[in-house]
Amino acid sequence: MGELTSAVLGGESRMWIGGRWVEAVSGEFVDVTDPATGEVVGRVPKGGGKDAARAIDAAFSAFPGWSRRTGAERASVLKRWAEAIRNHRQEISRILTLEQGKPLAESLEEADGAADFVEWYAEEAKRICGETLPGSRGNQRILVIRQPVGVAALITPWNYPATMVTRKMAAALAAGCTVVLKPASQTPLTAVALLKLLEEAGLPPGAANLVTGEAGAIGREMMADPRVRKVSFTGSTETGKKLIRASAERVKRLSLELGGNAPLIVFPDSDLERAVEATIGNKFENAGQMCNGINVLYVHESIVDRFSERLVSRVQSLRVGRGTEPGVRMGPLIDERNLRKVEALVEDAVRKGARVLTGGCRLTGEPHRSGTFYAPTVIGDVTLEMRLVHEEIFGPVAPVVPFREEGEVLARVNATPYGLAAYVFTRDVGRVFRMAENLEFGMVAVNGTSLSVPQAPFGGIKESGQGREGGRHGMEEFLHLKYISLNL
Ligand code: ADP
Repeated sequence: MGELTSAVLGGESRMWIGGRWVEAVSGEFVDVTDPATGEVVGRVPKGGGKDAARAIDAAFSAFPGWSRRTGAERASVLKRWAEAIRNHRQEISRILTLEQGKPLAESLEEADGAADFVEWYAEEAKRICGETLPGSRGNQRILVIRQPVGVAALITPWNYPATMVTRKMAAALAAGCTVVLKPASQTPLTAVALLKLLEEAGLPPGAANLVTGEAGAIGREMMADPRVRKVSFTGSTETGKKLIRASAERVKRLSLELGGNAPLIVFPDSDLERAVEATIGNKFENAGQMCNGINVLYVHESIVDRFSERLVSRVQSLRVGRGTEPGVRMGPLIDERNLRKVEALVEDAVRKGARVLTGGCRLTGEPHRSGTFYAPTVIGDVTLEMRLVHEEIFGPVAPVVPFREEGEVLARVNATPYGLAAYVFTRDVGRVFRMAENLEFGMVAVNGTSLSVPQAPFGGIKESGQGREGGRHGMEEFLHLKYISLNL
């Protein structure tokens, strides 16, 4: 075990506030458990409103110093952070798998992805530029400058405990904001590890702060304090809506990355093998717990049997188990609550006439007995009356729905309140453009299913959220424009 792992696993971690590692005001701790075994793998302070207030104080005090550093100075801290994450990728991925459940190979990929976001924003910190505009009078000069919004509160989910932290935090710090991070209660240990590395990278005290514990109380404090000028949240649409309501009081800026209902649409002219592989890569990554994960597979009626057959045989080869075991391709679901939701959606479909082609149940025998495992599942004969077509499954269940016409499938997938990601498989160039332009989603992937890269604006429309993360657009979320009119 390395130094980082032994500091985080098995013992009591601390929150990072004002450059010091501290306990919660309550003095209490909460357990963090391994979803594959139910065992406690670490403990974090049970912070609440008062702890959030202390963290906001620290971030507010650190703001003038951090925001006035040059972009290059901020970049050098971030670069060291990216390097430290890469140097500790094995340790981070072990912590991540133990608290989250995904296979080590996926955790390693996530640790590398987390470092990539930090590196990208380190580079971008140097490129926060303004504009000059022509004046309306001969003696007028107009300048537009970009300034950091101030203290930013970052609330992250449990499905990507490393990349969701760095995608938000690196953008905010690069912009010159100071931050308070509240990681998901299920997966705070990865955040503790990442911030230990950020401290070593030389971030000044208070520029980033970590608060763990009671989400509701911490969230309320973040929304109530007028010094928090921006909230960036990734999580459920339900909690996102609560934050929108709470933000009204202080007119806070929000970026929200919420739920989705991503369709995969496979046309008969597509490369079937590639479509099946890409489906496996997306639908069963992280046991299907991905906000841009495929929810429903729409496959043209002329190829649906062939497609389903291949998919089933690939799905049956996926090994399910503890993420720390070599060769395991899929881990447990995050907790009992999510497992029950997946079970309920499948039961509803079966009751309404769907056919389970493989899987379709919780795994209860050894070695899955003490974890929250669900079998990788494919379901056929799915109809629009079934809940899993309309609700976000967030589990390893692939419902297959046949379609006949391009227009019909387009209308059907656009008729959801969500709009995060859509996937299309076709080799017809005209159709590529028709679909990409008419799909009402923030992101469309054609002939592939992976989307999250540092340079691209990740995010949704409709009830899937607002604002973007990643790329220069992601940094704009932490900057405001100031217009300066000069009269000579
Ligand atoms: P999920 O249902 O997928 O766990 P949530 O939206 O409940 O998603 O949680 C996502 C993140 O939001 C987590 O970090 C969680 O602790 C936090 N959270 C949950 N409820 C609130 C709230 N009322 N205010 C602020 N943050 C919250």
